Amino acid sequence: MSNLLILLTGALLNWTVADGGKMAERVELSPCDGAIEKLSLSRDRILSMNAVRLDIIPDFAWAVKGEEGYWFSPYGVYGEYDRDNGTFFAGSERMCMPMFGWSNRKGAFLAIVTSLKYFVRETVNVENGKYSIAATLEKALCQEPYEDLVIEYHRRDSGTPYASMAAIYRRYQLERGSVKPMKERFAENKVLEKALMAPEIRIRQAWKPVPSPIMHQAPENEPEVKVAVTFDRLKDIVNELSAQGVKDAELCLVGWNIGGHDGRWPQVFPSEPKLGGDEKLRDAIRYTIDAGYLIVPHGNFHEGYTISEDWDGEWTMKDENGFILPTRHGKVSWGGGRPYHMCPQRAYEKFCTRDIPRMAAFGFKGVGYFDVVTICEPQPCKDPRHPCTPADGV
Ligand SMILES: [Zn+2]
Repeated sequence: MSNLLILLTGALLNWTVADGGKMAERVELSPCDGAIEKLSLSRDRILSMNAVRLDIIPDFAWAVKGEEGYWFSPYGVYGEYDRDNGTFFAGSERMCMPMFGWSNRKGAFLAIVTSLKYFVRETVNVENGKYSIAATLEKALCQEPYEDLVIEYHRRDSGTPYASMAAIYRRYQLERGSVKPMKERFAENKVLEKALMAPEIRIRQAWKPVPSPIMHQAPENEPEVKVAVTFDRLKDIVNELSAQGVKDAELCLVGWNIGGHDGRWPQVFPSEPKLGGDEKLRDAIRYTIDAGYLIVPHGNFHEGYTISEDWDGEWTMKDENGFILPTRHGKVSWGGGRPYHMCPQRAYEKFCTRDIPRMAAFGFKGVGYFDVVTICEPQPCKDPRHPCTPADGV
């Protein structure tokens, strides 16, 4: 950082308003804490524009074809300045962390969205060889920002390698205080320490056909559950791990619950009867732990099926018109048929708090695997009985 001089810089705000018109304005970034500059836009300010899209391009986020350097998205996409025209847009799946950045001949930066961080996107655009990289707010976020927007631009010298961007992000995470390195967490949690040394062995025990021949299943027409690994068979696997000298492992049971893999969420119990019953499951868990391994359940508090004895349209996630939102996969089907998005607030209140203790009581030990939640930004839920923002959902 020694030779990087930061002058008062700004950013271009490119608003696309509701009638399709465009409006550009320039705002100043506020310097803070050494090599960091900050862009802040209040929620009211965003709302007042009635915009359908906002692209934010700082002064230092321009480059021309042929320059040395790179740009990247947190999903692992990496590009160089070698095109004349085109756009890269990092949508939902490609923004698994709220950050992006680049390096060019003038400098490098990592942008970290620290407020309104769910659903802000990255757009890399090149037009006639002129590149820009923008933080993009799409329609829903422009129309209903759930909090103020804050982006920190961590500036570095030109030529900073992309791996250093990960180090900057790590430092940011540690300094904000709520993320602790494993070494510190071990002190309070010996199971976690063991889990880190134990490769996960995912054992898919039972399932119904996917795609499901019946989208909305009922107990009367539920497709047959196929059994692959019973609770007794689990003990054979444990014996074989011991015989082969495997020191550490964490067995993750998938489809141990009623109906097999994704069989009837959010209903979990009883364990799938064809696998041997609850007593055999307890016995297999004890046996695994006595042999020195960890064993955990696969679960899901993200989507639910009509066949569940817990089914109630009340707890699904709704849009502003009261329609149930599809899951992120759209109109797919899994073992239980068509999955419906659960409101995270209801999932927590009604099912996590009820069923995680019940699972724990079976004796599981390790790092439980609860599907989907850590890779999907929660949608806003508009059901007036349990409204929640993406930040609430997290
Ligand atoms: Zn809700």
